Order: sequence, then structure tokens, then C-alpha cells
Amino acid sequence: DVTIQGFQKFYGSVEVIPPLDLEIRTGEFVVLVGPSGSGKSTLLRMIAGLEKIDAGTVSIDGEDITGRDPGDRDMAMVFQSYALYPHMTVAENMTFALRMRGTGDAVIRERLTEALRMLSLEGYENRKPAQLSGGQRQRVAMGRAIVRQPRVFLFDEPLSNLDAKLRARTRLELRELHDRLGATSIFVTHDQIEAMTMADRIVLLDHGRIQQIGSPREIYEEPRNRFVASFIGSPE
Ligand code: ATP
Ligand code: MG
Repeated sequence: DVTIQGFQKFYGSVEVIPPLDLEIRTGEFVVLVGPSGSGKSTLLRMIAGLEKIDAGTVSIDGEDITGRDPGDRDMAMVFQSYALYPHMTVAENMTFALRMRGTGDAVIRERLTEALRMLSLEGYENRKPAQLSGGQRQRVAMGRAIVRQPRVFLFDEPLSNLDAKLRARTRLELRELHDRLGATSIFVTHDQIEAMTMADRIVLLDHGRIQQIGSPREIYEEPRNRFVASFIGSPE
């Protein structure tokens, strides 16, 4: 499980995340939704160890990892702004972390081939980021996370730049990969369909507070308050 206890974050004197608890079960695919500025990215970055947390702890399977370096958490994050290494090819960008870790060539090759297929990037492995479209770059950024096969995936709107057809396909591929690896995923999106089709549970955030947690069906059919109802667009 990924257990978040008392997570709190201030920017200056503004409390962006009031004390927040969240328990995510191993194997679960949780979709985090909420208005722009509600704290979704901040929360993901806190879990990843990329953002200083002002109070609280995060643990995996009961082990407190709050003080650990981001690279030492067995988590892979796909950012909203996907910075690729400009001088490296697609394949190098995607496998860099594995090479650093000393993973063998055969495994690297196998995972790369699989990720390229999943993300419809076959034939692009020797290109540089500047020779790719925005959506292709975004998929390379996702490939970088996928090949690592971490215990925990953190996705911040990873499909936002893709056309509808590719988005639908990648959605399925991602969910399948998650299931096959037995991973735990937290996935931020603005896309209602993504939330409804991918999530085991949806977490709805507003001003850094959890408004409701539940299966897509529960959230849709039994919204706990007006905010949830109007955000999800369920019948009043
Ligand atoms: P979006 O859907 O637009 O990506 P979000 O839910 O991811 O929004 P965050 O990026 O987590 O929202 O931001 C939460 C709040 O924290 C916002 O009010 C934002 O203005 C504020 N914020 C984010 N980063 C900083 C920063 N570095 N300094 C000050 N305030 C910040
Ligand atoms: Mg964000």
C-alpha cells in the first residue's frame, strides 16, 4: 500500500494542501481529479519526493520513505511538462535510468521494444526530441517511466497531448501494463472519460481537500455534496 498521513504544504503563507490522509492499496489504479489549482500536481510531487513537504509522511508497504531521495523510492513519475534530454535519442532517453541502474542489455532491449510498441513509437527510436511532435515527446516521457517497471506509477496528465484515437489506445495499454505489473498507480487527469474508464477509485480534490473517494460509479451516482455533483456532472 501507499500510505499518506498528514501531508501538508504551504507556499508562503498559503496552505495549498491542508493535512491530508490517503491510503492506496497495492494494485490499485487511483485517478486524481479536481479543478485547476486544486493541488493535484503538488500532491504527486510530494509523494515522489520532488516537493518539500511541510508535515506528514508517506510509506510503501508500511515502510516510511518520507526522507528518501526521489530516485530511491521505486516510483516513476510522468510530469505535466515532460523534459527530455535534447542530445539523446528516443531510445537513449527511455533507457537512461535503466542503464544508470546497471540493468542488462537484453532486459533493456526487451523493455524498450515493448514500450515502443505500447506507445506507437516503433521506428522513432533513433530520433532526437527536436524531431518529434509534442504528442510523440509526451509518449517518450511516458516510455521512460514504463521501462522502469516501478512499484508505483505517478502520472500527471500523461495523455493530454494525444489525439482522441491514440489517447483511447494508450489508456487501455497503460491500464493493462498496470495490471500485469501489479503496480500501484496514481493518475491525474482532467478527462472525465479517462477517470471513469481507468479508475478503480476516483479521488476528487478541491483546494487541497479530498471531497470524495469512491468507485467511478459511487462518485457518479452518489455524489456526497454539490461540488462533487457539479464537477462530475451527475444528475442532481
Ligand atoms: P492544474 O490542473 O492546473 O495542473 P493542479 O491541481 O495540478 O492544477 P497545483 O499545480 O498542484 O494544481 O497547484 C496548487 C496550488 O499551488 C495553486 O493554487 C498554485 O497556484 C499553487 N502553486 C503551485 N506551485 C507553486 C509555487 N512554486 N509557488 C507558489 N504557489 C504555487
Ligand atoms: Mg497540475
